[in-house]
Amino acid sequence: GEALAVSARVAPLGSRLVLLLVEDLTEARRIEAVRRDFVANVSHELKTPVGALSLLSEAVMDASEDPEAVERFAGRMQIEATRLTSLVQEIIDLSRVQNDDPLEDAEPVRIDELVAEAIDRCRHQAGSKQITMAAAGAAELKVWGNRGQLAAALGNLVENAVNYSPARTRVGISARRVAQPSGDLIEVAVTDQGIGISDKDKERIFERFYRVDPARSRQTGGTGLGLAIVKHVAASHGGEVTVWSSEGQGSTFTLRLPEAGAARDRALQHPDLD
Ligand code: ADP
Repeated sequence: GEALAVSARVAPLGSRLVLLLVEDLTEARRIEAVRRDFVANVSHELKTPVGALSLLSEAVMDASEDPEAVERFAGRMQIEATRLTSLVQEIIDLSRVQNDDPLEDAEPVRIDELVAEAIDRCRHQAGSKQITMAAAGAAELKVWGNRGQLAAALGNLVENAVNYSPARTRVGISARRVAQPSGDLIEVAVTDQGIGISDKDKERIFERFYRVDPARSRQTGGTGLGLAIVKHVAASHGGEVTVWSSEGQGSTFTLRLPEAGAARDRALQHPDLD
C-alpha cells in the first residue's frame, strides 16, 4: 500500500533510508492500530455499566409500588456507578502515565512511604478478609522517580494481591537493594497466597483490559487496567515488572526500579558538574 509507494519513490536515495522509512510507517501503523483497539475497548467497557444503569433505572420505575424491590435495584445501581467511577479513574490514570514524562518531576522517593500508602489503601478490604499484610526491608531505600506514579504502581500490585487471595492468607511486601554495574536497583516484591496465574495467562495479564476471569474481576471491581499501568510506570522509569506464579499457590510480582543513589542526587543538585 502506501508504505510501498513511498519506498519506491525514495529508492534511489539508498536502501538503508528506504528501510528506515518503511519501518517508520509500519511502526506508525502499529501505534494507530493499538490506539484504535484501545478506543474500541474503552467504549465497550463503558457501555457495560452504563447499560446496566439504564436497565436498573427502568426497573426502579416499574417497581415503584414495591419498596423492597426499589431498594434492591438502587443498591445495584450504586455498585454499577462505583464501577463506572473507578473505570473512568483508571482510564485517566493510564492516559496520564502514558503521556507524561515521569522523570520531569522525578525525586528520590522513599520505599517505606510507598509501602505504607499501598497498605493503607487496601486496609479495609484486607481487614474484611482477615488477610495479614507484612512489610520488610523497605527502611532507608529510595528510588528515583515520580512519586504519584510509583504510588499508583505499588498500590495496584498490593490491591491485586488482596483481591485475588482467599480469606485468612498473608500478603508480604519486601524490598531490597540489588547491586548492578550500571547503577543499583531497588527490588520490591509483592507476594500472595492467592489463586495464582497460569503460564498462558502470565503472558497477557499486562495487556490493557485483559482479565483471566472477567466475572471474578468484575466482582472485585477490577478494570483490567491495573497491571497495564504498573508495566508502563516501571518501563518509563527505566525499570521493569515481572511475575512468578504457581496456580492455586500464589504469585509474586516484582518491581525493579533505579535507586535514588548518591550519584544521581549530586547530579541533580549540581547539574553542571561532571
Ligand atoms: P484487574 O483490575 O482485573 O485486577 P489487572 O490489570 O490489575 O486488572 O490484572 C489483570 C488480571 O491479572 C486480573 O484480572 C487477574 O486475572 C490477574 N491477576 C492480577 N494480579 C493477580 C494476583 N496477584 N493473583 C492472581 N491473579 C492476578
